[in-house]
Amino acid sequence: MRAEVGIKDAKVMGIGPAGEHMVHAAMLCNDYNHSASHSGGAIFGSKKLKAIVVHGTKRPPLHDKAALIEAGLRWRKTLQQYSVSDRYGVGHARHLEALPNNNMQSSLIADHNRGFDHNRVTQRPCFQCARLCPWDVEIGEGEFKGKIGHFNAGAEWLDTFWNLGVKGNATLYLAERINDLGIECGHFAFGAGVLFEAYEKGLVKAEDCDGLRLEWGNVEAIDKLLEMTARREGKWGNLIADGPLEVAEAIGGDAVKWVVHTKRGVPAMHDWRPHFSNMLREIVASGGMKPQGGGAANPPPDLKYREKWGPLDRDDPKGWPQSNVIAEQYRQFVGLMGGCWFAQMHLKPDGLNSVVDSFNATTGWNFTLDEAMLAGHRSAILQSVFATQRGWIADHDWQQVGQRFIDPVPDGKFKGFTIAKWLPEMVREYYQLSGRHEKTGRPFMNTLVQLGLEEFKEWAQLD
Ligand code: SF4
Repeated sequence: MRAEVGIKDAKVMGIGPAGEHMVHAAMLCNDYNHSASHSGGAIFGSKKLKAIVVHGTKRPPLHDKAALIEAGLRWRKTLQQYSVSDRYGVGHARHLEALPNNNMQSSLIADHNRGFDHNRVTQRPCFQCARLCPWDVEIGEGEFKGKIGHFNAGAEWLDTFWNLGVKGNATLYLAERINDLGIECGHFAFGAGVLFEAYEKGLVKAEDCDGLRLEWGNVEAIDKLLEMTARREGKWGNLIADGPLEVAEAIGGDAVKWVVHTKRGVPAMHDWRPHFSNMLREIVASGGMKPQGGGAANPPPDLKYREKWGPLDRDDPKGWPQSNVIAEQYRQFVGLMGGCWFAQMHLKPDGLNSVVDSFNATTGWNFTLDEAMLAGHRSAILQSVFATQRGWIADHDWQQVGQRFIDPVPDGKFKGFTIAKWLPEMVREYYQLSGRHEKTGRPFMNTLVQLGLEEFKEWAQLD
């Protein structure tokens, strides 16, 4: 496409076969290892739009270059840098201390990353960003030796295939495949996950599997199923393309208890189950549609002047809804200004102020951190109103969630932990604290007035 427009450093956002075949969770893939994973590839496909290619001819105007350099250097100091050795580990599972195995039937971390230390890793930072997230890999051992992969931070693509029983460098091979086909990870992982579990437990017979042996860790079968999903081929390829709940409903029986989903979408592809903060965020979100929080046990240092709480207890639900409300506001603000979430180090001193100061230096505006938080809140409420207009209510958040996702953690350090004991109370408290009705999720009129959103009053909760 760059050749077609004759500009070799033009930027491209495009869809793969999954978008062309309107797989419901088809990704929009950008160049430089980036993707808008939880987004509208199917919409591109429905419009027969393969890609958008852009190239700027002017530099964006800067209000105060010296002030931007000063704030940018402060921001840069907060960044936690990835190293090559991080790419030999188990990704985000290391922080969560849990990892999805076999459709979340186990959370144990074992030798999933075996062989990674033989790989050649090349870090490819975005422009001059010191965080160093994107990386390329050349697999250095085993069946897929010599294969190349292109990844960013996040690592949902690792957990995707661990959830299907794969380990070692086959995981990286399949991760590159799913990215090339343009399928969002959790969508495939949980659709295929419930299908494999049904095969294991005899609900799906071999003769009903288009010739595939759907056994955990069968790389060849997973590879074929990826291709079938991206092109909606065969019964299961077409159903996985629709979504995990569609797969479970087609299988019938207990499969509907095994499927992981949130409001027919999927959570981001990690095993979040041992943690209140992550679980609340995933339950009140729906695969990218709604506010994304994920609060911490303590308020960000930059907000300590107004947030007088913490540390929260990981086993006590008290305070986590408030933490989520705050987190979604600063995260939304960074998103609104076009900042990168991976570069938002809210737990470091100056992690938020340096971002707001960079924004002010660029625009010439004079936002305070409080105003930035208000803008984030406005964004969260607007997204929520968008969902209200399409029939969503807050009660769906805890009523329409796959049982497996809220079952007690089956094993390991957090065995027995479940957010389910605290539902719907945590969800309801979250909506109350963010100025919305606890059951409908509609914003109260005074919330709309406070945020300057009176034009949406017909969607307000009036009683
Ligand atoms: S923090 Fe964001 S901009 Fe920086 S390297 Fe990571 S993905 Fe790129």
